[in-house]
Amino acid sequence: MSDKFDVIVIGAGPAGYVAAIRAAQLGLKTACIDAFTGKDGKQALGGTCLNVGCIPSKALLDSSKQFHNLTHNFAVHGITADNAKIDVATFIGRKDKIVKQFTGGIGQLFKANKVTAFYGTGKLLKGNSVEITANDGSKQTISATNVILASGSVPIELPFAKFDNKFIVDNAGALDFPEVPKRLGVIGAGVIGLELGSVWGRLGADVTILEALPDFLSVADADVAKIAAKEFAKQGLKIKLGAKLTKAEIKGNEVALTYEDKDGAHELTVDKLLVAVGRRAYTAGLLADDTGVKLDERGRIVVDEHNHTGVDGVWAIGDAVRGPMLAHKGSEEGVAVAEWIAGKAGHVNFDTIPWVIYTEPEIAWAGKTEKELKDAGIPYKVGTFPFAAIGRAVAMNEAVGQVKMLAHAETDRLLGVHMVGPGVSELIAEAVVTMEFKGSAEDLARIVHAHPTLSEAVHEAALSVDKRAIHKG
Ligand code: FAD
Repeated sequence: MSDKFDVIVIGAGPAGYVAAIRAAQLGLKTACIDAFTGKDGKQALGGTCLNVGCIPSKALLDSSKQFHNLTHNFAVHGITADNAKIDVATFIGRKDKIVKQFTGGIGQLFKANKVTAFYGTGKLLKGNSVEITANDGSKQTISATNVILASGSVPIELPFAKFDNKFIVDNAGALDFPEVPKRLGVIGAGVIGLELGSVWGRLGADVTILEALPDFLSVADADVAKIAAKEFAKQGLKIKLGAKLTKAEIKGNEVALTYEDKDGAHELTVDKLLVAVGRRAYTAGLLADDTGVKLDERGRIVVDEHNHTGVDGVWAIGDAVRGPMLAHKGSEEGVAVAEWIAGKAGHVNFDTIPWVIYTEPEIAWAGKTEKELKDAGIPYKVGTFPFAAIGRAVAMNEAVGQVKMLAHAETDRLLGVHMVGPGVSELIAEAVVTMEFKGSAEDLARIVHAHPTLSEAVHEAALSVDKRAIHKG
């Protein structure tokens, strides 16, 4: 086979593998290089998301939710079970099987679409060649007209709480604890900290989350954050705001923490510590010195609105570039870049990217928050509707939370939708579609929604924008 490709993608996460498949679909001769090694020591495609992110975390969230429901929520249905136990090896094994199914699936998709997969570390050289270094140190060079950089991100490490991957762990470590830690410390009350804190909390860990910022979940709408904080507290998650970790010391089989808040310094001892303070773009060893590709002050690859780096034929997508670190954002950039390369019109609308946190209750939003609208001086109307008044939610015994809708005060155009409650990870899609089509609250209000479903909360919130919700006093 010739070593000259139309497209080489470096990184096979949700940004890179999707870009590679789309490029191949468009008739471009495509290669994709990835260095990730799975638990079995073999190449595992799919990047962070499939191996140690989105998919395994959702598998564990689902298993732990079943256990928590059995031990806490089933009695109301008349169902009780004595001596309910969790077998952690089976719990982790199920997650590993799901990961393998999906990472293996990418390999099959590559074969079906004739994408050539290389296993190793890719380094962009000047002139759009890529040097691949395999695990055994052997090297080969391939070249292409276009190279797409999709090297993703890695967890940020705190200098005073370095990962040892046994006691002080990152996301990968917290997806693989051999047993339920009695006391789990989590640094960072962001998406990853809340999701993985919930997993182990539901299985019985005493979870304390330290968050340096004074406000809880400040990226979300304030009302949503308030409802979620109350529910998490009821579940026993101890979330301490304005609490800055200053020291973490492994002592025997424990981790001794020191943190500071407005009342001074505090000590806390935990069995495991998850550091989830964010992720940073990963570009180590990716670029030869003379490629001309630039990094910004946060180490992200600089790109324009078309994900072009400014170097002829070199593009970058996903967590390695600006924008939210979300799998679906990277995938859409991958599709768009492949289409731009093929001379088509790619498109990613950053204004309607949905955010989801898979806690209990779930949290989901798209578009502007109320604060953003206020700060921008945009006149708006608000409609809300609680799940407590939704028959399906009550029948499910999951009647917590609400849907909040923000529409332009004059045009009624939908500007933001913020949800907390059952199944909102799925319900948010309706809001995204409406916003993508520049729809109004009135559009949603006039659409027939099946009864009884959770989606009626979306319908009623849209009606509530003009104060005509039916089931609201
Ligand atoms: P990555 O997935 O990080 O993939 C990059 C790949 O490139 C990796 O396999 C890496 O080994 C490889 N690579 C890097 N450099 C080189 C090189 N030089 N040569 C060869 N290969 C290289 N997002 C969501 O949207 N929904 C979720 O529910 C969600 N849950 C998450 C849960 C957790 C615990 C974590 C950690 C993240 C989660 N995310 C979620 C975020 C999501 O995983 C990332 O946004 C997504 O994986 C980014 O995709 P990417 O392709 O840009 O990079």
